[in-house]
Amino acid sequence: MKTIGLLGGMSWESTQSYYQAINQGVKAHKGGLHSAKIALYSVDFADIERLQHQGDWSQTAVILGQAAQAVEAAGADFLLICTNTMHKVAAQIQSQIHIPLLHIADATAMALQADGITKVGLLGTRFTMAQDFYKNRLIEQFGIDVLVPSDAEQTIVHDVIYQELCLGNILPQSKAQYLAIIEKLYAQGAQAVILGCTEIALLVQQADTHVPLYDTTAIHAAQAVSWALEQA
Ligand code: GLU
Repeated sequence: MKTIGLLGGMSWESTQSYYQAINQGVKAHKGGLHSAKIALYSVDFADIERLQHQGDWSQTAVILGQAAQAVEAAGADFLLICTNTMHKVAAQIQSQIHIPLLHIADATAMALQADGITKVGLLGTRFTMAQDFYKNRLIEQFGIDVLVPSDAEQTIVHDVIYQELCLGNILPQSKAQYLAIIEKLYAQGAQAVILGCTEIALLVQQADTHVPLYDTTAIHAAQAVSWALEQA
């Protein structure tokens, strides 16, 4: 079994989901007392969040690059960045290490393609919804059309992530707002909606809606398990 490298803490609320899903996946495949081999570096999210909102992405790449090097030195065979947003600097992080990166958008796009989805809604931070680094990867590398919420709705989705979910606050009124936005994306032609922020599944689950949801945390974690168990 390979060792899975995790760059976590963004936020730690969702890193817990990764840790649990990966261990459950290994247990499901191998049974008994088997558990995942994981090297985790968990950052102080306050530092990252401040730099994000200041637009200082190059400094985030310095911090995360050093963390990724520590994960590699700890024996990881490949790396997951446990947040969609910080894939904005995925190439800079990859350039600082020798192990491969399992890109969250690629894992998600492959799951969509496997299900024949060609037009999808995207929820995430404003960085993920409004900028090109994530959407364009889906469009250009996988031929998947991406719909995003209106500007006002993006503000709601973004603020709930940073002011509630990353702090562990799961509020019913925010869930209702998310479900209304998901429904609107579906009405606009999205065949499914990507939960493109690793905390969103703490708020909204598949049982809450008829719209097919693609939870990036679960998909990323499942792909990590299959990489870890390949040629085990
Ligand atoms: N975990 C979130 C994501 O998947 C947001 C936190 C962050 O900005 O990294 O995008």
